[in-house]
Amino acid sequence: MVLGPDELEKAVAILKKNNVLAIPTETVYGLAGNIYSEEAIAKIFELKKRPLNNPLIVHLHKMEQLQEIVKEFPPKAKLLAERFWPGPLTLVLKKGDNVPDLVTGGKDTVAIRIPDHPVTLALLEQLPFPIAAPSANPFNRISPTSAAHVTGYFQDALAVLDGGSCKKGIESTIIGFDGEEPVLYRLGSISKESIEETVGEVRIQNKAKSAPNAPGMMKKHYAPTTKTYLTENAKEMASLMEGKKVGLLRFTGKSEDPKYDHIEVLSPSGDLAEATTNLYGALHRLDSMKLDMIIAERVPNIGLGLSINDRLERATQ
Ligand code: AMP
Ligand code: MG
Repeated sequence: MVLGPDELEKAVAILKKNNVLAIPTETVYGLAGNIYSEEAIAKIFELKKRPLNNPLIVHLHKMEQLQEIVKEFPPKAKLLAERFWPGPLTLVLKKGDNVPDLVTGGKDTVAIRIPDHPVTLALLEQLPFPIAAPSANPFNRISPTSAAHVTGYFQDALAVLDGGSCKKGIESTIIGFDGEEPVLYRLGSISKESIEETVGEVRIQNKAKSAPNAPGMMKKHYAPTTKTYLTENAKEMASLMEGKKVGLLRFTGKSEDPKYDHIEVLSPSGDLAEATTNLYGALHRLDSMKLDMIIAERVPNIGLGLSINDRLERATQ
């Protein structure tokens, strides 16, 4: 069932009945449930087939709600929240006693953000509880950036509140703390440089070490079902392509080339923000075309390009 943005009461009723619902955000669609309902949170894990030790992000609509959720709010967390909320920044902070262990995967920290989407902010304002929402895709699949992507995955098993296609297009940037010092747990739709403008240099958490902390940091994640290769330059892949139906994902350039069955150009004008917004839609389209293989070209490794390349690496492990 797809609910229009004017059908908020239905969405509220679903969540109040301990059911789950897909919601739009500016990053990707989320699979939402009441953080205080064991029944709802269990349904999220079950539908996604997500391991229980993978924590969920708690979504709020205003900063005052933090008192209910966290024990500490370090000064640099506050600076980041003031600059980026509502927006695609997730902060991992010491959890308050109210927050159920099921939401945090048993950790003593909780991941929080205020999403920047008018429909979901209006929904959250009408609810007497915060919601937990991981991305609305089966575990290890490409995140959904439209209501159609969500129904493609879950059909009638999940109602979707349609808020259009996601403006940012990849997951939030996750920042945790080592004492007072910010640590980047997951690259996302805010660049590392933008974070550093606010709080100075941040360390990227070592990937191997961070795996238990953040499934977004797991090696294989966000993956198409079609065999996908990552390269600096698609020309290098010519020998692999012989006699095969091949799709190409490229940053910029031509969208026609007889060597390929289909080409997705992420940004004709070479803009990394636009490329980020288009990334998952392009991967979903390529993955639905019954190709033998997808070749993805790396994008320039600066700013949001780091986040795009990170997702392409995980799609091709
Ligand atoms: P997603 O399923 O795409 O919404 O991803 C949620 C992300 O938030 C995952 O990478 C989680 O591991 C991360 N996350 C949630 N809670 C925590 C936490 N307490 N510590 C570290 N990462 C967390
Ligand atoms: Mg996810």
